[in-house]
Amino acid sequence: MFENLNEKLERSFKLLKGQGKITEINVAETLKEVRRALLDADVNFKIAKSFTENVRKKALGMDVLNAVKPSQLMVKIVHDELAELMGGKFIDINLKGNPSVILIAGLQGSGKTTFSGKLAKMLKSKKGRHPLLVACDVYRPAAIEQLKVLGEQIGVPVFTEDGSKNPVKIALEAIRQAKLQGNDVVIIDTAGRLAIDQEMMNEISAVKDAVKPHEILFVVDSMTGQDAVNTAKEFNDRLDFDGVVLTKLDGDTRGGAALSIRSVVDKPIKFVGTGEKLDALDNFHPERMADRILG
Ligand code: GDP
Repeated sequence: MFENLNEKLERSFKLLKGQGKITEINVAETLKEVRRALLDADVNFKIAKSFTENVRKKALGMDVLNAVKPSQLMVKIVHDELAELMGGKFIDINLKGNPSVILIAGLQGSGKTTFSGKLAKMLKSKKGRHPLLVACDVYRPAAIEQLKVLGEQIGVPVFTEDGSKNPVKIALEAIRQAKLQGNDVVIIDTAGRLAIDQEMMNEISAVKDAVKPHEILFVVDSMTGQDAVNTAKEFNDRLDFDGVVLTKLDGDTRGGAALSIRSVVDKPIKFVGTGEKLDALDNFHPERMADRILG
């Protein structure tokens, strides 16, 4: 991931390298290249524009024209601005409540069920929690089966109600069971659709209203670029979620979603999925991601 962006940004900084004294024109050319690199990474036009404008202002403020090593200073400014664009600080999920109730939302195929399994595994092995996974996709028996298989692989119980068509009832019953069995985290995997659909939104909203989750995570496939950002906006308008999970960052994603989501929905990315295996999950650290982008 980000290979292209990394390469293009490096090329743009080359314009400044080795020049003892640089001019405003050099800086403007570099910024043009940076903007082009962001657009090629599928970053929204307005975001790319305001990004380079912010970098330009900072560069002027830090007197980059008279810096000893102007290219290094520019790299630092771009690095800090990239980290800022992605949210600045790492923000963890809210695990208050006993049980902590986590609602997982997103389109079908985004990686919701896989993420639910990964999160359960992470909370169990790294935080000593006792999660309960809940299969609330009442339309696709295959999805319920998939969660059961995942649960078995990681040794986490899975709550299902065979034949039930009522996700609110399933979720409430699961929480009741969790209290009885001593599960301190309940992860509710909801039904997705291939595209935004009001029925799906109504259903997830109803589950949200009934269970009052401590955390709502929106899962989205990073390979879908600006579509990912648009979907995030629609889900957020409806659900007011707490954080984003970007999946498939191991694929040849151009990175646009990672760079744009924060400024469009103003919600932090909290996790990234980096593979199909159940331990391919990382917390999202904007600073580290900026390091990676700049190589
Ligand atoms: P759901 O319909 O939203 O529940 O999506 P699934 O969890 O079934 O995932 C859809 C497909 O994406 C499956 O083939 C997963 O193995 C795959 N997948 C999920 N997360 C990742 C990831 O981070 N990286 C890769 N490469 N594949 C993933």
